[in-house]
Amino acid sequence: MTRSKHIGAPAGKPMDFAIVSLGRFWSKVQKTETCWEWTGFVNRNGYGCFRVGGRSITAHRYSFALVNGDPGKLWVLHRCDNRKCVNPEHLFAGTQIENAADMVSKDRQRFVAGSQNPIAKLTEQTVILIRERYAKGGIGTRALAKEYGVSRAAIRSALSHRSWNHIEEGANGNA
Ligand SMILES: [Zn+2]
Repeated sequence: MTRSKHIGAPAGKPMDFAIVSLGRFWSKVQKTETCWEWTGFVNRNGYGCFRVGGRSITAHRYSFALVNGDPGKLWVLHRCDNRKCVNPEHLFAGTQIENAADMVSKDRQRFVAGSQNPIAKLTEQTVILIRERYAKGGIGTRALAKEYGVSRAAIRSALSHRSWNHIEEGANGNA
């Protein structure tokens, strides 16, 4: 796997090599009204790759870092379902666990443990969204339960990571 852990700046700091390669980077991007498609090299996992400063970095991670600074140990994940997309608005930094969940939700063959779970009405992707929204504040378990059509216990369970620990397994993603 080509996890780009070798970017040379502390989390949140601009990457010093980023600026000089901007023109070359954007020349490989085809913007649409939604996704910004990477047209350069794509690795076997379907992610765009960009070679800069003698290193290879995934294109979406590079794009994210241009806007937000280096994500450090965090992975850069897609809100859209398009691995080639480098639109910063479609990207967010998350943990490897969230990345695994993301991978699982996009690969239905692996969606087994979740469907045997008492809160199976929630998909892995939904669990991630619920955690995100709850973490941001302004919405409680009752409102979330109503919105997603599940019990508050299910929401609390999803938030507590108890029911969805299986998504930590098989984290072979690429970010
Ligand atoms: Zn996108």
